[in-house]
Amino acid sequence: MTLPGSYEPYDFANRRHIGPSPEEMTEMLRVLGVQSLDALIAETVPQAIRQAEPLDFGKPLSERGGLDHLRETANKNRVLTSLIGQGYHGTILPPVIQRNILESPAWYTAYTPYQPEISQGRLEALLNFQTLVSDLTGLDVANASLLDEATAAAEAMALAHRVTKSKATAFFVDAECLPQTIAVVKTRGEPLGWDVIVGDPFKDLDPERVFGALFQYPGVSGAFHDFSEVIRRLHAAKALAIVAADPLALTLLKPPGEMGADIAVGSMQRFGMPMGYGGPHAAYIAVKDIYKRSLPGRIVGVSIDARKNRAYRLSLQTREQHIRRESSTSNICTAQVLPAVIASMYAVFHGPKGLKAIAERVHRKAARLAEGLASLGFDIRPQAFFDTITVGVGPYQGLIMKNAVDYGVNLRKVGTDRIGITVDERTRPATLEAVWRAFGGYDLVYRDAYPEYRLPKALIRHSAYLTHPVFHMNRAESEMTRYMRRLADRDLALDRAMIPLGSCTMKLNATAEMLAITWPEFAEIHPFVPADQARGYAELIADLCDKLCRITGYDAFSMQPNSGAQGEYAGLLTIRAYHKSRGEGHRNVCLIPASAHGTNPASASMCGMKVLVVATDANGNIDLDDFRSKAEANAGALAAAMITYPSTHGVFEETVTDICAITHANGGQVYLDGANLNALVGLARPGDVGADVGHINLHKTFCIPHGGGGPGMGPIGVKQHLAPFLPGHPETGGNAMTVSAAPYGSASILPISWSYCLMMGGAGLTQATRVAILNANYIATRLESTYGVLYKGRGGRVAHECIVDTRPLLERAGVTVDDVAKRLIDCGFHPPTMSWPVAGTLMIEPTESETKAELDRFCDAMLAIYDEAQAIAEGRADKQNNALKGAPHTVEDLIGDWNRPYSREAACFPAGAFRVDKYWPPVNRVDNVYGDRNLVCSCPPMESYVKAAE
Ligand SMILES: *Cc1c(COP(=O)(O)O)cnc(C)c1O
Repeated sequence: MTLPGSYEPYDFANRRHIGPSPEEMTEMLRVLGVQSLDALIAETVPQAIRQAEPLDFGKPLSERGGLDHLRETANKNRVLTSLIGQGYHGTILPPVIQRNILESPAWYTAYTPYQPEISQGRLEALLNFQTLVSDLTGLDVANASLLDEATAAAEAMALAHRVTKSKATAFFVDAECLPQTIAVVKTRGEPLGWDVIVGDPFKDLDPERVFGALFQYPGVSGAFHDFSEVIRRLHAAKALAIVAADPLALTLLKPPGEMGADIAVGSMQRFGMPMGYGGPHAAYIAVKDIYKRSLPGRIVGVSIDARKNRAYRLSLQTREQHIRRESSTSNICTAQVLPAVIASMYAVFHGPKGLKAIAERVHRKAARLAEGLASLGFDIRPQAFFDTITVGVGPYQGLIMKNAVDYGVNLRKVGTDRIGITVDERTRPATLEAVWRAFGGYDLVYRDAYPEYRLPKALIRHSAYLTHPVFHMNRAESEMTRYMRRLADRDLALDRAMIPLGSCTMKLNATAEMLAITWPEFAEIHPFVPADQARGYAELIADLCDKLCRITGYDAFSMQPNSGAQGEYAGLLTIRAYHKSRGEGHRNVCLIPASAHGTNPASASMCGMKVLVVATDANGNIDLDDFRSKAEANAGALAAAMITYPSTHGVFEETVTDICAITHANGGQVYLDGANLNALVGLARPGDVGADVGHINLHKTFCIPHGGGGPGMGPIGVKQHLAPFLPGHPETGGNAMTVSAAPYGSASILPISWSYCLMMGGAGLTQATRVAILNANYIATRLESTYGVLYKGRGGRVAHECIVDTRPLLERAGVTVDDVAKRLIDCGFHPPTMSWPVAGTLMIEPTESETKAELDRFCDAMLAIYDEAQAIAEGRADKQNNALKGAPHTVEDLIGDWNRPYSREAACFPAGAFRVDKYWPPVNRVDNVYGDRNLVCSCPPMESYVKAAE
């Protein structure tokens, strides 16, 4: 039977990810004055770089087909109970947090909280996180998360070097540190000429020889010590002490701060995040007050708004790489906000008593386990432990490990004759019985009697923690649900409005792509399980790498870097290792255009490279003459050039192939920052253009949500000649160079990018790129005659983003770029990227996901703001007291006294703002200077809450 009427093929995949309907696209093309999308792309993307073959992955999968395929792949992973420890533990994520944070787009689609007025919710959650960390570690100031424990340790080493008065160039690492931490610290120290000495802190540490030392507490074998005396000796030699500590153990044990440690680092994974085959998890770093200005990453602080109400914001931003560039000691940009929020909520949910009870339960299980094994005659070490023991097994290591797997448990191999066991929150009596059986204890049964504590008396914690009321709220789930909802409602995320942040590619994170990340088959896999338990992951990673190779024209990928900036660092290390292998290890000059993202120069200096800045011309292009002359003048020492394509100015530079050729001719390698890949997929390939290596931000182009500032993934692709130099890992082999704690970075979010590729297919991905370019050009066209668009390609078109100029408004009306950005909040938008890469401008990237209606709402808002500025310029509005300077407006402005020359209506409901679904920022404009002068980085006392509420 045939249906009446004509049958029109309907493309579900494209409709999910692509905002404008076919009719809307026709209308938009008409506004642009082009015949077709093909014609627009031909005007935009230089013919010389267009890829020869269309991207083709075969037929795209439907939503159901994609989920079925993910299910099949997940089933190839085997979920056993992993008691491997080594920095990763089984956890129980309270369902109320899983559903309302991890699975809630209000939380996971938010951007980094650079605009504090629309970020108060996640800023409060992060402040809770910082309070949690500084309380547990006994140190003064904590940041809002780092990428993982190993990189946090490396950041701590760099911090120590920056602030130490010691002249030493060596760094000491406790042999009890996690193997992956040791590998990452060694990798980080090597290019900077820091000798990393690994040994026993009580025997091998000579404080005079080192600028700092790192200890693990408890150590990987389960042992722990009071480091107070060693720390005193370090301080006498002007060296710093860093303790990598397990935060759950710290609920029972004397914290690093009380031992005199300067810095503490660690992983908050145990606070509810699943192991996820290695990540994402929030790492923490905390320091003594005197070092707070050297702390890497982001720090949430407390300030006030225009009404002098309390308001949160990111503080001390001048420390960050986007300001300090090549003199920065850290390149941290995207961190782990969502996992940090989850850890903070886990602490709010359990409170100090609950956390302590969990730690005691874990300890009790470990003590029971040890008792049972001792009763079987095994040698148990250490005598005092928290959750980890090792068992002497003589020649039976292999046999017992295999038995354990047969009983469903993974244990850790230690040397040739011992086995390590780490218990956790999930460990049940049956788990212990399975372990005993693996060791031959068939008759042992778990008894609920309380075993003797095995913690040393001298190290028991007496100090209080989490005394702030937020950790003592009523634990009814209704309270918890409403607290999370309240915070989410304060924020503006993608679930409410377009986030047109240039360079950040805030595109749709489709629900179907998100579903798999909490499936136990992906979430509950320890990163160091035997390969035959992670076949599903292996298949997923291999296929995603293959697809990324076909998209980019690179030949191999490493999934290790867990952010874009980590990718830059890993890629430059790869280049360095390549030069070394050819006897050209002296090459250390890196050319970087002035317009580059701040992480580029920061990453280069982390690799010990000397950064030479290349000028950009009036059109925003790399100044080819300057580039050539700097490359030629440094031909003997040129290591690399770092370029961004299309450029950070949002333009396809025609000279990109020349730049690559000049770099190669002078002995350098080309690093291509792939943050802008959303303008290339399916149209052009970095590998064909001449790049040798580059990262891709899977959290930009490939749909991993931004999480409010992480997690992310920044895998790097390389051409064949660099493939042998990609990072390795102590657990999986390969190169000695290691950049992340886990072999595949934050592996558990890879299903998101993979399902995006599967459900879009090659043609769908290409269409997404084309529409991203269409949407950007539509905005550029609509705003051109007012604001003006700063840079354009030869065809008069922009790429996937455009920079509009607000500087004339400053001249004519005293209106700053800040005023425009904050006024956009009144209109119901997240402001675009501000003053980067050009001061006084806004960089707008709509992505393919936004509909014409949303683009028009945004353009209408921008044009109305322009008119408001015009009114000031023409004297129709007051220069100081106007809606732009007063923005953003809150409910407070709608009630109470009003003595301004503009109406409340105009203040609160400008163009773009919804009448019913109006987004109300919870605070007025936040005072940045006040916050930095009066730095407060943990939860303020309760009286100030009362005051704020008054
Ligand atoms: C986002 C971005 C980066 C950094 O990526 P992270 O994942 O935040 O570390 C680097 N370069 C450019 C151009 C970017 O837009």
